[in-house]
Amino acid sequence: MDDFLKQLPQLAKDKQNENKKYFAKLRKKPPKNIDYVMQELHEAEFEKTDCLTCANCCKTTGPLFTNADIERISKHFKQKPQQFIDTYLRIDEDNDYVLQEVPCTFLGADNYCLIYDVRPKACREYPHTDRKKFQQISNLTIKNTSICPAVYNIVEAMKAKLPK
Ligand code: SF4
Ligand code: SF4
Repeated sequence: MDDFLKQLPQLAKDKQNENKKYFAKLRKKPPKNIDYVMQELHEAEFEKTDCLTCANCCKTTGPLFTNADIERISKHFKQKPQQFIDTYLRIDEDNDYVLQEVPCTFLGADNYCLIYDVRPKACREYPHTDRKKFQQISNLTIKNTSICPAVYNIVEAMKAKLPK
């Protein structure tokens, strides 16, 4: 995994133009079975990729924290929401709450998430490869090919399974 993670930014860069063209065509005419195919590709990838050997998303990018996330996590720490915000969060250029620093403060030894049961919605949904109408988040997905090895592999498998 370590070698793949080192190579990933360059591999993703090499595929960037090809991926942009592919998703542009896909968005124009999405196949009817795209949700079904993506679910299959997502499940096949995560049968062989173990996030606990990676954690690159938690190490390099943090999630957004919604108000509901802040309420839930601060309650878990028996803190007031504002106390939690002041300790861990900042507001980014899009006016969203994000972590003050990466790697994520809540990433523990052996890549376990210390707040797994109450983690932000964005963490639960990452890397979004099993969401419906996957073609609609192509810019985010192309960005994620350089962060998440599973996304890189899924996009490669997708191009083979749903050629354009
Ligand atoms: S909250 Fe947990 S899952 Fe989310 S980035 Fe931090 S360590 Fe990773
Ligand atoms: S979601 Fe992707 S980047 Fe995050 S730990 Fe799993 S494989 Fe790694």
